[in-house]
Order: sequence, then C-alpha cells, then structure tokens
Amino acid sequence: MQRDTPAGGNRNTARVLRLVHQEGPLTRADLTRATGLNRSTTLALVGELVELGLASETEDGAATGVGRPSPVVRASADVVAAAVTVEIDAVTVAMVGLDGSIRSRVTEHTDDRPTADEAVQIVARLLDERPARLVGVGVSIPGTVRVEDGLVRDAPHLGWRDEPFAAPLAGATGLPVRVANDANLGAWAERLYGSGRGVSDLVYLNGGASGIGGGVISAGQPLSGADGYAGELGHTFVADNGIRCHCGAIGCLETEASRASLVAVTGVPADDLPALAEALAAGGPEVDRVVDRQVAALATGLRNAIHTVNPEVVVLGGFLGVLLGHVGDRVLEAVRAQSMAAMVDRVRIVPAELGSDVLLRGAAEIGFRELLDDPARIHALTERPTARPSERQKAGTP
Ligand SMILES: [Zn+2]
Repeated sequence: MQRDTPAGGNRNTARVLRLVHQEGPLTRADLTRATGLNRSTTLALVGELVELGLASETEDGAATGVGRPSPVVRASADVVAAAVTVEIDAVTVAMVGLDGSIRSRVTEHTDDRPTADEAVQIVARLLDERPARLVGVGVSIPGTVRVEDGLVRDAPHLGWRDEPFAAPLAGATGLPVRVANDANLGAWAERLYGSGRGVSDLVYLNGGASGIGGGVISAGQPLSGADGYAGELGHTFVADNGIRCHCGAIGCLETEASRASLVAVTGVPADDLPALAEALAAGGPEVDRVVDRQVAALATGLRNAIHTVNPEVVVLGGFLGVLLGHVGDRVLEAVRAQSMAAMVDRVRIVPAELGSDVLLRGAAEIGFRELLDDPARIHALTERPTARPSERQKAGTP
C-alpha cells in the first residue's frame, strides 16, 4: 500500500502510541529501539502525541539507559474507552484510561436477563454523563458475535439470537462501538497484560457460570476466523458417552468439565471461587471422582487445542484456574500422555492473572481501536454530538 509522507507519519505515530499504551511507560530510548526509527524521528513522534494530549513526558527515567537520562513517555489516563460487559443479571460500564487504569466502574443489576434492547438502553444511560475524552466503546458479550458489524449471532445464556448490538448502541451514543465474544477479549487481555505477556501463541480457556469460553492468539494476533467465531473450544468434542449440550451436540468440553458439577459436589456458593478451592483441597471420594473426570475431559480438550494451535502457553481462568491450582501438574501430565512429544515439549499451562478485570481490559482494547489505528483522529472521536463516526469523513492532510 503506497502512502504519502503524512500518512506514513501517522502510521509511525500509531506505532509509538500503541507501544506506550500496551507496554506501559517507556523511555524515549526504549521507543527508538522498539520502532527502529532514529532518535530525532522518535522525538518528533512523541512530540506529536504530547501535542494531541495522548501522552506525557517526564524526566524520571534516568536509571534505565546508559549515558544521559531518557525521558519517560506515558499514555494519558484521561483519554478513555468505555468497557462494557453484559451478563445474565448485570450490565457493567467502566472507563478505562489509555494507560490501562480503570478510572470508574458502574454495575446495574437487572431482575431478569436483559434483552438486547434493554442492555443498549442501560449502557446509553450510563454513558449519558461521560468524560470529555471518551473515544469509543468496547462491548463483551457471552456468545458468538459477528465482529464485522457487531451482530450477536447467538448468546444462549442471554437468550439472544441475531440481535444487532453495535449499530443501535452507536446510534444511541454517537460513539464508535465494537462488540466481541467475551473469551476472545479475555484471551487478548491476558496476552497483553496478564499471564500471556510477550507470548505470540496462546490458548485461553475461561470457565464461568455459563460454560467454557475459549480464545486463541496466533502469531501475536487474535485468531478471529471468517466471522469472528474462532476459539469456541468449549464446544469441541471430548467424550462420546457424554452429556447433551445446549448447542445440540453430545460430549462438549463445557458439559464434561463444568462449574455446576463442582459446585454441586462441594456445596459451595456458585460464584465463590476461593471457597471452591478450599472445598477441593478438603477433598473426599465423591469430590475426587468429579475432579478426576473433569481433569480427564480438560486434558482431552487441551490435547485437541494444542495439536491445532501449537501454543507456547495455555491460560486457564475462572473455575478452570481453580481446578488447575488444585491438581497442579496433573493437567500437563494428562495432556502429555496423549500428545505428540514435540507438541508439548515446551508448552506451559498456567492460571489467568487478570481476575475479575479481564473482560473490562479486553473490551477497552476494542474501544480504543479507532484511536490506536490513527491517533490524529482524537479530535474527531471526541467531538460530539454533531455527527456519527460513519458519516464523518476525515479531512485530508493539510
Ligand atoms: Zn456444545
């Protein structure tokens, strides 16, 4: 793609902004090294970001380099994305700063499962009073989402089928809106900020109330698939004498390893993971039997995923993280016992790190997408309520 100089400049500005956003505060020397640009170009690009109000520079980075101190560049905390999670009993809207800080968080509980229309209304209302420098909205949905237009194809636990979500929310708020599957966002957040930091190939499985969500990072990028549905590892096949899943199939990973069975056999409250960990540690024949069965199902599911993806790291969140904490190396041993040796030589299976913030961090990433692609759009993105983003044609370079 041929670009003229200003567009090339924008592209490098975007690279620098993405680096300080994703890697945290960096010295100008770090940025020069990471981009391969020369020092004066880095200086100019950082100057541009400072002028746009997207970054700040301070002189406290003396210790990191050799020779003269190099100023530290930080992403601005007051440039924010709205991160939204929709669940069966609550809608949460958080403001996440470009520096990764969660600035505020409001949860509205609902009596019943919200309809898509109700969820849009709740989010729009919670965004009524918004920070001046809000640049976009990212939404996490527990279901399959067509990323191209934010249509929720199927969210079984919400009872949604073919519900447009991004378009009505963009209409109601005048903001760019992107919507994605919760586990895909979780995988990306763990890759950027959690146990998958710096890892290019990763499989993520999260065990929650509504089953097992999965996401894959391949060659450093989220694996999306043709429509955005990739990574539904909870519905891969692990047991031919298994239970029928709500998806219609028999023996899905999420029916064979489920929080519900662990909760039933231990008697702990459904959403109390620390209590579940204690109950598993206390054990008992019935508990151990369920644990053994779930470890076997999980190992089979991971074997399939590992032979498909060849990951460096498998990250387990939610109750799967608790299960891993309880049985430790047994999961990896069970995977090894049924895998090609080369495939599991260096794979690690680790618990997720981001805990309850994982989906907000992931949703914020897609909320920042427009800005990260073209930092110069900050003015257009924060100008409102005049026109919708789709109708705005970015003015040509001066
Ligand atoms: Zn299924």
